Amino acid sequence: MAAAVQGCLFCRIAAGQLPVERVYENDSVVAFKDIHPQAPFHCLVIPKVHVATLNDFTVEQRALVGELLLTAKLIATEHGLPGYRVAMNVNHEGGQSVFHAHLHVVGGRTLKSALG
Ligand code: AMP
Ligand code: ZN
Repeated sequence: MAAAVQGCLFCRIAAGQLPVERVYENDSVVAFKDIHPQAPFHCLVIPKVHVATLNDFTVEQRALVGELLLTAKLIATEHGLPGYRVAMNVNHEGGQSVFHAHLHVVGGRTLKSALG
């Protein structure tokens, strides 16, 4: 597994070094509640390895990209969300503020079909 990146908040969370409300974990991903929820349910799904943005995943990591999405589905099912949104912000211009790639899983209310 790639080394954690020093100073990366989500590497520290993946390593269990920061307290978060974990909702799911397996060998390759961790999911936890967002500290500033935008809806009644809002969690983040991250790879355990440090990948800065969607643009930095390699072709060889395609299974990991799929794992992130399938984890979002699993969590939504486990939490009984009838509908939800999965979003990944990419780079500053795409609204990304933490540069360890993550999927937002948002639900628990009816979402407007707005993409920002
Ligand atoms: P983004 O703007 O797409 O990079 O999303 C980063 C998300 O990380 C935001 O929704 C923050 O609320 C969330 N966040 C930042 N720090 C923490 C933390 N310590 N625990 C949980 N979520 C966090
Ligand atoms: Zn990281």
